[in-house]
Amino acid sequence: MQKRQIERAPVLLEVSHLSTDFLIDGGPPSHALVDVSFTLREGEVLGLVGESGCGKTTLMLSVMRLLPANGRITSGAVHFMGNDLLSLGEKEMAAVRWKNIAMIFQGAMNALNPVRTIGDQIGEAIVQHNYVTDSALVDKRVAELLDLVGIASERRSQYPHQYSGGMRQRAMIAMALACNPQVVIADEPTTALDVMIQAQILELLERLRDRLGLSILFVTHDLGVVAEMCDTVLVMYGGVTAEYASVDTVFNNPQHPYTRELLRAFPNLSRLTDQLASIPGHPPRLDALPPGCRFAPRCPVAIDRCHVEEPALRQVEPGHWASCHLVDG
Ligand code: SF4
Repeated sequence: MQKRQIERAPVLLEVSHLSTDFLIDGGPPSHALVDVSFTLREGEVLGLVGESGCGKTTLMLSVMRLLPANGRITSGAVHFMGNDLLSLGEKEMAAVRWKNIAMIFQGAMNALNPVRTIGDQIGEAIVQHNYVTDSALVDKRVAELLDLVGIASERRSQYPHQYSGGMRQRAMIAMALACNPQVVIADEPTTALDVMIQAQILELLERLRDRLGLSILFVTHDLGVVAEMCDTVLVMYGGVTAEYASVDTVFNNPQHPYTRELLRAFPNLSRLTDQLASIPGHPPRLDALPPGCRFAPRCPVAIDRCHVEEPALRQVEPGHWASCHLVDG
């Protein structure tokens, strides 16, 4: 789907001002996610980008309502096709998972059951979520799904260890598509795969997006993948939104210093250099956040105000938001 069509496509998933805390060892709550908003339209691929610990996984688990026992959503809303997911009972929410919003987990070897065949595991997802229950129809659906992701259906009776890494990830994608969801959350689906296999998996996801009209929330720390796959990008830092805009805007006119540093650290073949750039320091610990802007201790252009006052998320131009004191909104 072309980008200008995506702008007019209906909104499937709308996350508004979502905040999530974790309670750790009886200490004060850690604010893992603060006031994050985005929309995902039909056919759109939204990249969720940032370093480890920036809140990507918390955001994803909050949307799916799969937080661990010590996590709780403290404010905000999640709507899927207008339905308020945070007000649903657990049984109703379980029906939304897989049927409407499914997940492709990272690390296919860990996510798959090693003692059950791939066909059984995909079949179980189909039956558990009542997509079809008749065994002949389940078999047919398993074969369809394997075909969709480029695995010969004869291999359904094999176990995960008999698959290559790329095939296991394809099987995970088939499982996520078991109940024909409209939205797929892909959690770093190409991490730990070699470059050639990564390219094949990205190509498969693009093909599935076009063929099935899927909307994809693509969690990654790889800006190359974002440039290749995504229409829009949400850059996160320390649990908050650093920048949110179309991919073209973020790559050509980044406003947040963190986004600019991420792009500078991204290898560029047209800018050959002896040394790869990096961002000095580490992302903040959520239980020991710095005062003011969370990026201030690492920011190359921080001013005094940054160390005492947290910047608000401002609209830079239509469709482009950034949270930085130096950005005019
Ligand atoms: Fe850097 Fe200040 Fe902007 Fe934060 S608010 S990103 S510290 S300039």
